[in-house]
Amino acid sequence: MADKVETVVIGAGVVGLAVARALALAGREVMVLEKEAAIGTQTSSRNSEVIHAGIYYQPGSLKARLCVEGKKALYAYCAERGIAHDRCGKLIVATSQAQIEHLHGMARHARSNGVDDLHWLDAAQARALEPELNCAAALHSPSTGIVDSHGLMLSLQGDLENAGGMVACHAQLQEAEVRADGIWLKTADGTELLAQTVVNAAGLQAPDLAACIKGYPQQLAPKAFYAKGSYFTLSGRAPFSHLIYPVPEAAGLGVHLTLDLGGQAKFGPDVQWTDSAQDLQVDAQRAQLFYSEIRRYWPGLPEHALQPGYAGMRPKIHGPNEPGADFVFQGPQAHGIPGLVHLFGIESPGLTSSLAIGAHVARILDGH
Ligand SMILES: Cc1cc2nc3c(=O)[nH]c(=O)nc-3n(C[C@H](O)[C@H](O)[C@H](O)COP(=O)(O)OP(=O)(O)OC[C@H]3O[C@@H](n4cnc5c(N)ncnc54)[C@H](O)[C@@H]3O)c2cc1C
Repeated sequence: MADKVETVVIGAGVVGLAVARALALAGREVMVLEKEAAIGTQTSSRNSEVIHAGIYYQPGSLKARLCVEGKKALYAYCAERGIAHDRCGKLIVATSQAQIEHLHGMARHARSNGVDDLHWLDAAQARALEPELNCAAALHSPSTGIVDSHGLMLSLQGDLENAGGMVACHAQLQEAEVRADGIWLKTADGTELLAQTVVNAAGLQAPDLAACIKGYPQQLAPKAFYAKGSYFTLSGRAPFSHLIYPVPEAAGLGVHLTLDLGGQAKFGPDVQWTDSAQDLQVDAQRAQLFYSEIRRYWPGLPEHALQPGYAGMRPKIHGPNEPGADFVFQGPQAHGIPGLVHLFGIESPGLTSSLAIGAHVARILDGH
């Protein structure tokens, strides 16, 4: 006999938790199912922890809109809840004339996205801010920052629980079926649930999980692609106080320098397409590529200063030679099943956008 739960969210990453929190605060009874032993152990703890300003994304896209909304909401939430963060700012650096043209294009994109605080810096102005930097020009984004993503997730879980919701760990969804009286779910330990609303926020597994739901038109589930991003950490002190990004490359934002809240610098992520979501080993051989990329903007990077760090996996829904995809929120309007919403392709800026995604999914479920 299945237990009745009004709303089930699958996946306790930052996005699943933000969605669950938003739905619980709106008065719903919410349970989050998480297959791992703890919240946020997958992509949500394998990223750059950057609060993005909203510069890169196609104007009018969900990524652009939810990033800009999410950034404002996230800074306010962190300040209110005492979640560690730092609005340290970033420089996007062009190291050639061709890249200067690209940087002008990015500045226009950013303005269309509502990012109106960028400053153009010539080489001397950029070096006045960061003396070790080599560049032909740079864009300064003062509203880019960093956040303690685990502190954020714990706070989202706390809000969810205070609103009467709960997270069940070691609860891997294994089977699901659309029935006349709701959506039937079964976890690996045999627990059965009947929910009126199900949000699939399973990250890398979201497309495969959708395709397993009996009664859901499987052809609507996108194919999952995986693009691994490895990081190398810098031994010793970083000479920079801003995050430093090159002009972006295909499928990622380029090997950039980010700082954690303790001031430790890391470089990455690069882009390596792979067939396995579990392929998270950092290949130490890739350091050579990192040295050459980084030295374009930091010629002073000492030999042997990079150590293999960790890797994260981008949950892509487009292949290596296809145009980039927007976030996809596939709700009843697309597949005709009341109360079912799939989140596909929630790659960067998913962390920045998480609170805005929570509000967006709540609106979809309210029929907007
Ligand atoms: C290398 C890299 C760098 C990034 N940098 C940034 C950045 O600087 N700023 C930014 O804004 N964004 C960044 N992102 C994006 C951001 O990390 C993601 O958008 C975000 O973490 C996605 O959260 P999620 O909750 O959707 O997914 P996840 O964190 O992957 O959570 C999904 C959860 O679902 C669970 N799950 C899966 N299947 C099941 C099942 N059958 N039953 C129960 N549970 C299940 C998983 O165990 C997991 O915990 C980066 C991403 C990568 C890969």
